[in-house]
Amino acid sequence: MPEPESAAPPLPRIDVAFPDIARWRAGNTGLPHVWRYASGQPGPHVALQALTHGNEVCGAIALDFLLRHEVRPVRGTLSLCFANTAAFDTWNPAEPFKSRFVDEDFNRVWSDAVLEGSRDSSELRRARELRGFYDSVDYLLDIHSMSDPCPPLMLAGTRDKGIELALGLGYPEHVIVDAGHSAGRRLRDYGRFDDPADPRAALLIECGQHWTTDSPVVALQTALRFLRHFGMVEPAFLERHLAPDDVPRQRVIEVTASIPIQTDAFSFVWPPDGTLTVVPRAGSLIARDGPTEIRTPYDDCALVMPMRRRARPGDTAVRLGRFRN
Ligand SMILES: [Zn+2]
Repeated sequence: MPEPESAAPPLPRIDVAFPDIARWRAGNTGLPHVWRYASGQPGPHVALQALTHGNEVCGAIALDFLLRHEVRPVRGTLSLCFANTAAFDTWNPAEPFKSRFVDEDFNRVWSDAVLEGSRDSSELRRARELRGFYDSVDYLLDIHSMSDPCPPLMLAGTRDKGIELALGLGYPEHVIVDAGHSAGRRLRDYGRFDDPADPRAALLIECGQHWTTDSPVVALQTALRFLRHFGMVEPAFLERHLAPDDVPRQRVIEVTASIPIQTDAFSFVWPPDGTLTVVPRAGSLIARDGPTEIRTPYDDCALVMPMRRRARPGDTAVRLGRFRN
């Protein structure tokens, strides 16, 4: 049944200009939209990725900036990848949420069973094309943004190595420890990135709302700090483009529960307001889902990535997080 018109919330503003990434299509690796630069010196293979989701343009703006400024590694290998460009190419500002993917979510296919299975989709074709590339990466920064206004969040997975890497960057303030999605495995959690016995690691940065002017700034600043952490580029390059390190002490927040929406009558009682809402008292009512009351399970409960738009049964309404430090 089609949704009644009145159920559709107003679309957010589109305050950023979309980059022309067609100019980067050729790549230099044999893979479209993948650029790899080898320094000739020992060091890790570090990769920056944009457009895991086609409408999350902030990462594409950051990578376009870095490519135009001819970022090059001084050690190891540096790669820049625009992932789901087929979805990006469907961008239509009148329906801005539609270009997240073409057939299915590119960030839910990263298990061997799915990658090697018989299913086919635009995203699986691209994933299978890029899989060998990811297998060669030691440290991956996967750049995303969010549907609703929210401060930047670094999603570190559940392993110590991911949390240590996030704290090593010193940015952004909030580091989220979470296991991903039951709907399918994220790239951040793919293969060795999530193997505690392997040093390779990946981080997923959620830069802010998809189309605000802040999000590309966060994307670039996170990418530069990622490169700085691994000593990948000339200090002079960083000095030209890095903002001062005035980040508050980082807080690590462990996601303890995801709240799925079960009815058409879901509504937040405790309004998530675009900052990281922290509910002081355990037992506080935060939402109603039909007849069910949803209350916080502990004091100082963080409401992580609340979904205010398009909240439908099956979506995750919010994740509940407990501060670890
Ligand atoms: Zn995303």
